[in-house]
Amino acid sequence: MVSLRGVNKFFGQRQVLFNIDLDVPKSEVVVIIGPSGSGKSTLCRCINRLEVINSGDIFVDGIRQPLEGRELARFRADVGMVFQSFNLFSHLTVLQNITIGPIKVLRQSTEEAEVKGRELLRRIGINDKEKAYPWQLSGGQQQRVALARSLAMNPKIMLFDEPTSALDPEMIKEVLAVMMDLAKTGMTMLVVTHEMGFARKAADRVVFMDEGRIVEEAAPEIFFNSPQAERAKNFLSKII
Ligand code: ADP
Ligand code: MG
Repeated sequence: MVSLRGVNKFFGQRQVLFNIDLDVPKSEVVVIIGPSGSGKSTLCRCINRLEVINSGDIFVDGIRQPLEGRELARFRADVGMVFQSFNLFSHLTVLQNITIGPIKVLRQSTEEAEVKGRELLRRIGINDKEKAYPWQLSGGQQQRVALARSLAMNPKIMLFDEPTSALDPEMIKEVLAVMMDLAKTGMTMLVVTHEMGFARKAADRVVFMDEGRIVEEAAPEIFFNSPQAERAKNFLSKII
């Protein structure tokens, strides 16, 4: 569903992604882990073209990332993204946050968008809050709404960049549970996280990044039990 080939990214003179090759097959969950500053967020932002790569190719569902215009907008609509901060529209209700994209971008009628929006709210377990404003929700609830808002656009892949790292511990679980359900429905997912329990359970493959490079890639049971790279061993010994 997503392929990166020979992707290089610089910020000014400084190279932060080195020759990245990565595949996320349809309906699989790939978890990216690695130390702070290793380029995980930049990688996600490049896939969504929030950052422009310097060389290489990025494909989503066989389509090469377009440079601009209408094609780029369409490409972006296929790639959903959930960040560490929830970025909900504070002046809109929960339901409006979810329906605004489908109405404005996908040209759905308000009725259609609301029917689908309520269905999504049920799925994330907050159907009683459709008229609430973001500030009236807990962090975990806000993050679940952010996820529903992305899903409302019918993305082909969902990118998650440390979706639980701004949450209190008791709220982490509820967000991970919704992500786990999403994985079970067959959504293709690329997830940057420090939640190793989630990686073990949900990932088809774990990718370890360090200093802008993919250092190791393996099935979770192999990666966590016997990491090969010295840097991966080191990283795991610090966080587990
Ligand atoms: P991670 O998400 O793994 O912590 P990032 O992708 O955020 O890593 O950052 C990778 C490197 O790129 C870091 O050295 C960071 O300082 C640098 N970087 C990230 N964004 C920018 C930017 N907009 N301008 C300059 N440097 C950046
Ligand atoms: Mg990051």
